Amino acid sequence: MLVGDAAGMVMATNGGGNNVAMIAGRIAGLTAADHLLDGTPLDAYETRWRAAVGGPLAQGVRIKKLADRFFGSDRLLEAAMVLIGRRRMARAIRCQRLLLPSAAKVL
Ligand SMILES: Cc1cc2nc3c(=O)[nH]c(=O)nc-3n(C[C@H](O)[C@H](O)[C@H](O)COP(=O)(O)OP(=O)(O)OC[C@H]3O[C@@H](n4cnc5c(N)ncnc54)[C@H](O)[C@@H]3O)c2cc1C
Repeated sequence: MLVGDAAGMVMATNGGGNNVAMIAGRIAGLTAADHLLDGTPLDAYETRWRAAVGGPLAQGVRIKKLADRFFGSDRLLEAAMVLIGRRRMARAIRCQRLLLPSAAKVL
């Protein structure tokens, strides 16, 4: 079971990985215990970490890919910042949905 940076569990928009590593580390530990106690397959770890942090991680990658289109040009970047506005920019950095309220956990 890979956890944290070794598993690529880093928020793409801000490089943060402490919270995700701790959450996934706990899930890995619990899954290992379940495996020993009742034979739960170790691949349950993947389902469990994806359910807990997969959404925000994937959202971060989507936002990063979108943002990369604007980073090459100061003008485009400035226009995008004006369009997006402060509130949505804050949501983007936190890997939350830009347009709809997110059900994702804030990491
Ligand atoms: C400069 C910097 C600033 C950061 N700031 C933030 C921040 O503000 N907020 C945030 O959320 N994230 C931040 N991060 C990212 C965060 O540090 C990592 O995502 C997080 O530490 C990942 O935890 P981890 O347990 O996966 O890996 P690590 O914390 O790197 O732990 C891995 C451990 O394994 C040890 N190790 C490596 N190889 C071996 C080996 N062969 N045998 C035994 N031990 C080994 C290492 O010494 C290390 O102690 C920052 C990263 C950097 C580099």
